[in-house]
Amino acid sequence: MLLMQDFSNAPQQLKPLPNNQVVELVDAHNECVASAYLSTQNKGIGWVYSLKNEAFTHQLLVERFQNAKRLRSQYFGNSLTNAFCLFNDEGDYLGGLRVELYHDFAVFSWYNAFIAQNQALIISAFQTVFPEVRGGYAKNRFKGAKQESSHLFGESHSEVNIIFENGIQYATHLDDGLMTGIFLDQREVRGRLLDHYAQGRSVLNLFSYTAAFSVAAAMGGALETTSVDLAKRSIELSKAHFELNQIDLSAHRLVVMDTFEYFKYAKRKALKYDLIIIDPPSFARNKRKVFSVQKNYQELIDGALSLLNPNGLIVASTNAQNYPIADFKKMLQNSLKRYHYEFKEVFRLPSDYRSNPKQNDSNYLKVFVIEVKK
Ligand code: SAH
Repeated sequence: MLLMQDFSNAPQQLKPLPNNQVVELVDAHNECVASAYLSTQNKGIGWVYSLKNEAFTHQLLVERFQNAKRLRSQYFGNSLTNAFCLFNDEGDYLGGLRVELYHDFAVFSWYNAFIAQNQALIISAFQTVFPEVRGGYAKNRFKGAKQESSHLFGESHSEVNIIFENGIQYATHLDDGLMTGIFLDQREVRGRLLDHYAQGRSVLNLFSYTAAFSVAAAMGGALETTSVDLAKRSIELSKAHFELNQIDLSAHRLVVMDTFEYFKYAKRKALKYDLIIIDPPSFARNKRKVFSVQKNYQELIDGALSLLNPNGLIVASTNAQNYPIADFKKMLQNSLKRYHYEFKEVFRLPSDYRSNPKQNDSNYLKVFVIEVKK
């Protein structure tokens, strides 16, 4: 539940806190008010997991998974989409754990060492509630992890695992580093490209990774797409996505280039687009510079505006947890102040990526669709 703060700067001398263990939180009368576990992770020092005195048991985890499954009943048995989030962190009242379904396989993200240490308990409770899942993989996202990815239980699926989303096929790799080939939390944005925004438009997809947005746009009737990513590997992964959906590649370009270089290149070649998607990593470092969304997003909007056709659309996305939506919107408005524009739509996390209303930043995804009239 609640993320706890570090009190190490408190004026009075406090005992050093233990790490990676369950603790009872008490009030001034020594009455238990909550049960928590302590384990350092990027967000803080631990998580409250119950508002009573409750051990961290198989039964507690079974209840958490049952609730999570019940709340997602609409997602099961959908013939068009078979990949979604089964359990999301503090949104499902157990911070530090995320489980995503990729067709018949589950991918567990362990965000801290306590959760990873308890993986046997967690997997056993998971299998009680989700016996239909054929196998599981771990993404070890905590400090000191020996490997990024590992097989956890059941069948292995080290080759390509094809998933469906809105009827489109995507190739995922469950045992290859931290990333699987698709960010499932962007499903609704891809869905709107498919059923609305892409039709009849030329599309530029920046930070394209495996070109998932481009494929959705192509399936949605885009005239052409251009996908730009710095990583060489993005080419073969992107090509595979187009081919899997029988899309002729002749109208779809894949470019290995730094986004900022591409702005210059496209300007030189007088290339223009009707729809530009910007979905950068929160933080990236390349040879030339360090990029952070909070500092450099405006440059991305400026670059996109220079390549946008009249009445074009910009899809501006960020998943930076520490960038509040109000600040992100203000930055966009500021970047666009010399233009007539209209905010058409905003996307937050889809309902399977449950967030905790008491913790605003747990709804980390922010995507604005803006029409720029020039
Ligand atoms: N938009 C993607 C996800 C982006 S992941 C999707 O919807 O699936 C971030 C990607 O940005 C990575 O593939 C990384 O290679 C790429 N990247 C990082 N810095 C970049 C830069 N300066 N120019 C272009 N791509 C960059």
